[in-house]
Amino acid sequence: MKYFPFYIDLKKKSVLLIGGGEVAERKLDLLIKAKANVTIISPKTTPYILDIAEKNNLKIINEEYSSQYLDKKYSFVIAATNNEKLNKSIALDANKNNILVNVVDRPEICDFIFPSILERGDITVSVSTGGASPVLARMLRTKLETMIPGAYGKVAKIIAENRVMVREKLKQSQSNKIFWEQMLNSKFLELVLSGQEAEALEYLNASIDNINEDKINQGEVYLVGAGPGDPDLLTFRALRLMQQCDVVLYDRLVQPAIMDLVRRDAKKIYVGKERDNHVVRQHEINNLLVEYAKKGNKVLRLKGGDPFIFGRGGEEIDTLVDHKVSFQVVPGITSASGCSAYSGIPLTHRDHAQSCIFVTGHLKDGRLELNWEKLIQPNQTIVFYMGLVSIDIICTELTKHGLDKNTLCALVQQGTTVNQRVFTSNLRELPELVKREKPKPPTILIIGSVVSLRDKLRWYEGTISHRD
Ligand code: SAH
Repeated sequence: MKYFPFYIDLKKKSVLLIGGGEVAERKLDLLIKAKANVTIISPKTTPYILDIAEKNNLKIINEEYSSQYLDKKYSFVIAATNNEKLNKSIALDANKNNILVNVVDRPEICDFIFPSILERGDITVSVSTGGASPVLARMLRTKLETMIPGAYGKVAKIIAENRVMVREKLKQSQSNKIFWEQMLNSKFLELVLSGQEAEALEYLNASIDNINEDKINQGEVYLVGAGPGDPDLLTFRALRLMQQCDVVLYDRLVQPAIMDLVRRDAKKIYVGKERDNHVVRQHEINNLLVEYAKKGNKVLRLKGGDPFIFGRGGEEIDTLVDHKVSFQVVPGITSASGCSAYSGIPLTHRDHAQSCIFVTGHLKDGRLELNWEKLIQPNQTIVFYMGLVSIDIICTELTKHGLDKNTLCALVQQGTTVNQRVFTSNLRELPELVKREKPKPPTILIIGSVVSLRDKLRWYEGTISHRD
């Protein structure tokens, strides 16, 4: 972070604006909005500045700038003259006097910069690119404008008017936060946004009258599938819950880019599992979920792919049911789907496969006990999860039970991420390929003639060159 964002109350602050042209006009507008006490120094000022100054009782010093004007009473100075040399010397003077300075269009000599701003009543969203590109900041602001309807200003106003009343009814500060979170996820928000303010207030008042602090403080667990890696593949609900949780328990498959989307101040607990090396054992994870939820937290259990596909999601909520902890389950795109799409290998296709089966290749005591005959069906695609360590067994058993040695297969490593690699081969040559290329987990194995479609249908390259 190059610049630290903070919002400052300028009502009782004195600010010095040096310059009287168009650039100064724009800064003056902003400062007046924030009710700052602005002093303007410039031998000449535009009629617009004169008018604003008169209306707001501002002092104008009709002189050239000189350092004698740099009084310590100013919270900050803005150098907005059209004379670069002068702007620079203003910055130097300000530095000497320890007064924060902004020099228009010269971020490298600024102590602070002005972000691009979006306003919705008292809500202010500011965007900064760290001075890199004001145009990009404005473009992002425009995007946000379409996402945040104007009525959000009204939402903020209603909350401000009712906050004290709610606070007085609730003993714990934590309950306050939860109450408003619930309101903002309820009909109340929809009503305000659709202009039905009276109904919204009625709903809010009824909710305040019926506040039950014990109920508010009950924790909950969100068992959420984070998909195979690409953050764009998250569901809306996953993202919403990720942004409102208090605690998150996540494992190895959850990509850092996805963790970046979790609420910043949530407590983050890594419970990653690597094969045979469980950082936190499954029953400990189950217990942690119960423990945190019972303390009133919104607990996010974030899992790679889909929580109910080789994700032990069932075991985790089983424990929650036993302890009467409420929960929600949010499906995610399972890696078979994600890897299939991003490698250009459809799992079913009218000319190749009418069914598709997901199998675990996870070894138990070094063995893989599967109903091999059942896997080998005509026109069926087989997808092995966790199959990397058992590749030799998989290839041997499948061919032993009758699958043609020339059957095509593909390994998709870190599918859907920028590091995706795809290796194609056939059953006979696959073990050799694995020894040579040493693909790393997570890798999925797709077996069947659908793999031949990749030549034509591949579209996603990641950033690393492919080996097939
Ligand atoms: N619940 C997860 C699966 C967990 S089992 C899901 O629905 O996807 C872990 C296995 O999933 C890994 O061994 C690997 O086979 C597969 N896997 C998960 N993410 C993957 C990815 N991005 N690329 C390839 N395989 C992946």
